[in-house]
Amino acid sequence: MNPAKLHRRRGICRMYPTLLDTKTGETVIADKYLWDRDFFWWSEGNGSCDCNRSIAMKNGSREELTEKFGDGMCVGCHRIIVIDIHGDLEGMTKAKIITKMNSEYPNMR
Ligand SMILES: [Zn+2]
Repeated sequence: MNPAKLHRRRGICRMYPTLLDTKTGETVIADKYLWDRDFFWWSEGNGSCDCNRSIAMKNGSREELTEKFGDGMCVGCHRIIVIDIHGDLEGMTKAKIITKMNSEYPNMR
C-alpha cells in the first residue's frame, strides 16, 4: 500500500506537502507529523507559517527561527514554502493548493 493510503487509513495524515526551506535549500516531505492536518491546517491554521513548518526540517531551522524571533511569538512567513502536495487533495488541483498554502509568503510568489 502506498504511504498516502496507509496514513489515511490510520487517520493520521490527510494532506502533506513537500516543504522547501528557501534559505538552506533543504526539502522535506512533511509526512511524519503527528497532528491532524488538512488543507485548512496548512493554509490558514498552525501549519501556515514557519513556526510549525520548521519543525519538519531536519537542519535545525526551528532552533534558528525561534532564537531569532523569540519563543511564544509567531516567527512569520519568510522561508519555508510548499513546493508539492500529496495525499488527499480534497478535490482541488495541486496548483490551487500550493498557491493558497504559500499565500502568506509575499516574497516567494
Ligand atoms: Zn507562526
